[in-house]
Amino acid sequence: MHHTSRCKRSLEATSISQPTVIPRPEHNISRANISSNAVKVLYRLREAGFRACLVGGGVRDLLLGREPKDFDVATDARPEQIYKLFRNCRLIGRRFRLAHVQFGQEIIEVATFRGQGEEEEEGDGPSVERAADGRILSDNVYGNIEEDAWRRDFTCNALYYDIDNFTVLDYVDGLADLKAGLIRLIGDPVQRYQEDPVRMLRAVRFAAKLGFRFDPATEAPLHRLGHLLEKIPPARLFDEILKLFLGGSAVQTFELLRHYRLFGYLFPATEHCLNRQQQHYPKTLLVRALANTDGRLAEGKPVNPAFLFAALLWEPLREQMRHLETADDLDEQELLQTAAEQVIQAQIRHAALPRRYSLPMREIWALQQRLTITTGKHPLRLLTHPRFRAGYDFLLLRADTDEQAAELADWWTRFLALDEAGRAQATQPEVKARKGKARRRRKPRSRKTDQAAPPSPKA
Ligand code: ATP
Ligand code: MG
Repeated sequence: MHHTSRCKRSLEATSISQPTVIPRPEHNISRANISSNAVKVLYRLREAGFRACLVGGGVRDLLLGREPKDFDVATDARPEQIYKLFRNCRLIGRRFRLAHVQFGQEIIEVATFRGQGEEEEEGDGPSVERAADGRILSDNVYGNIEEDAWRRDFTCNALYYDIDNFTVLDYVDGLADLKAGLIRLIGDPVQRYQEDPVRMLRAVRFAAKLGFRFDPATEAPLHRLGHLLEKIPPARLFDEILKLFLGGSAVQTFELLRHYRLFGYLFPATEHCLNRQQQHYPKTLLVRALANTDGRLAEGKPVNPAFLFAALLWEPLREQMRHLETADDLDEQELLQTAAEQVIQAQIRHAALPRRYSLPMREIWALQQRLTITTGKHPLRLLTHPRFRAGYDFLLLRADTDEQAAELADWWTRFLALDEAGRAQATQPEVKARKGKARRRRKPRSRKTDQAAPPSPKA
């Protein structure tokens, strides 16, 4: 047993050093807690004569006594060799080639040990391809397990569980950081963020999810390197956004993203609204939506990403509608649809938003208008709308900060509690007509109050 010293970290990663080895009796990782599919993959690789280890979040979370989200395997088998071993295997990724072994819903990610590849001589083999700014464009140089450990992102993510003897291997002092609750980048933080700016988002995600603190050197560059995210392809940012907000700690993640001024690179229009608004309306709605999401995930309930995007882009939508209102001669529906289109177009220049999310998001928005009609056949028909529930839930969310939305939400809540006859009664036009008159008699809002409580979108 030899402890990798801290200063070793700054030395050449390729110099041979011994990992700290934690034998089976001294750690809590048991095969019983590893997905049986991951165990199968590990054994199949080993039986074929390869080295096979569990690595990354699986090892980290098990050591912390948490339930891992997924299991990642690292091996010295090359992608083509992995491919030959498993029937249910696909090779994916260009930038980072790896194997996906699929078991029904579960995918075990199997990656070949990576090396540094920096000093790679000119040759026909693959190399680490870099952009002028240091970003790694492709990372397909294979190496040994130790090199593999050093090129991982955070120390707590670079621990290996070796299926050969059930030991935990630590090349980077990850266990100490894990025990101390520290997120620490391996190597020089600025360089590692430049190589892959998404590591900044990952840093925040793990800090929020694990409740860890940042090592000061890992934290310091976060405040000023956000702009590097502009170089990340929108599709990759979208994937990361889902992980950030669907990991069960969305509220904390959001606060950290804003604190380090990273949020604006994911949702520029939303950031703009948050900074401009003196009142706390938009933030409250957004934070409540994120808290709902966290709450649902904690209860094991499904969450709808479209709902989350509807909340994230709600203020930009309203702002765009206010803007169009003064300029164009559109009816309410056109106004909303035009504004929605513009908000989406602006957003997808930064982070992708696939149609399977943007379409239901638009429907949730459109329902905010349709829910304002509470007479005639319309309300009953709306109940059968496939997105009704999401639209109603969104109205409830708005109700917390918007008086008019609150009134409307109350109406729908009462309406939903009625039986068929009651519903027919409640939507009688004459009942509404009287109400309508009463409403019209109210004093119109002054500009001032309008600002304090912005009206619901062209509702
Ligand atoms: P999660 O709980 O979200 O799955 P994870 O740590 O397993 O967390 P993955 O995205 O599944 O994260 O990646 C698996 C492992 O691969 C990480 O733990 C880390 O060691 C390594 N890794 C992933 N992305 C990067 C990156 N951008 N740079 C360096 N290493 C990375
Ligand atoms: Mg993982």
